[in-house]
Amino acid sequence: MKVCGYAAQQPKTPLSQFEFERREPRDFDVVIDIQYCGICHSDIHQVNNEWEGANAFFPMVPGHEITGIVSDIGAKVTRYKKGNKVAVGCMVDSCRKCNPCINSLEQYCVGGGPVLTYNDEENIDGKKITTHGGYSNKIVVDENYVLSVPEGLPLDKAAPLLCAGITLYSPLMHWKAGPGKKVAIIGLGGLGHMGVKIAHALGAEVTVLSHSLKKQEDAKRLGADKFYATSDPRIFHTLAGYFDIIINTVSVNLDSNKYLSMLTLDGAMVLVGIPENQMQFAAPILVGSRRSIAGSSIGGIKETQEMLDFCQKNNITCDIEKISIDKVNEAYKRVLNSDVKYRFVIDITNSLKCNNK
Ligand SMILES: [Zn+2]
Ligand SMILES: [Zn+2]
Repeated sequence: MKVCGYAAQQPKTPLSQFEFERREPRDFDVVIDIQYCGICHSDIHQVNNEWEGANAFFPMVPGHEITGIVSDIGAKVTRYKKGNKVAVGCMVDSCRKCNPCINSLEQYCVGGGPVLTYNDEENIDGKKITTHGGYSNKIVVDENYVLSVPEGLPLDKAAPLLCAGITLYSPLMHWKAGPGKKVAIIGLGGLGHMGVKIAHALGAEVTVLSHSLKKQEDAKRLGADKFYATSDPRIFHTLAGYFDIIINTVSVNLDSNKYLSMLTLDGAMVLVGIPENQMQFAAPILVGSRRSIAGSSIGGIKETQEMLDFCQKNNITCDIEKISIDKVNEAYKRVLNSDVKYRFVIDITNSLKCNNK
């Protein structure tokens, strides 16, 4: 079927309108009329081809925070029908056979890895087809990789839950954030602001660690109990041994030892961003208090659905700035300057007009 979107034709080039084709729905496919798509920082990394060793596919239509309405279904689809509110996140398929896949951890698929929503290839009837993401008017996805958006969650403010939301929900659940637990979130951006809201709803005491005090009022409004500026070296002394969980959402290199020292016995520091350089830490800081350093990547399909249901029950959505699709290149510049509260969401329905209908 003929569709359109916004694509980068080459690495580092501005995005512009791009007419392309998607497959007609196969037996288990769902066709989604996309209404909204969030802008994730990783969209910019991939458009700029900044991930070393990664194979990039151009023209590239980014976008993996997708919400919309089912407009057509394949003959054997049972989970969705026309008119359903649905969402698609960072992956559209996986091997479905390996241990992680069988255990609903498709994001860690070892049978070739999950098929990413864009900038990847999927196997369609024996042919390798480049995947294109949510900066487009329609997407066709196997029903097992489509999420249901619960009634009451607005599609615009829900879109960033599909990456930013699940990226924080999954580690908070895995490391058991809840009443009596002290959680620190490093960085209050798109990811961090979701971490504050979710950890607060789980009943944990939430602290934001930010470079300066600039975002203090905002953090409190989002649900943070405490706020510290890491530019003040005294806080590392004050908070030594304090946190059960520290989630690091920033992709810059921090002095790991200082942060690890803020963990209590059995505490864990979890990375959800990927700093450019290798990390270094002093082993005694881990050994002396059975602390750990860990990483976490998005969430499986089952857990992503749980997260959407949790957000609906707890009235959690993203704080967004809605833009028309022709403003996407400007929005990229502002994301790089951390000048957005806290996620751009593209209003696809009202701003993307295809020429190839
Ligand atoms: Zn993302
Ligand atoms: Zn697998």
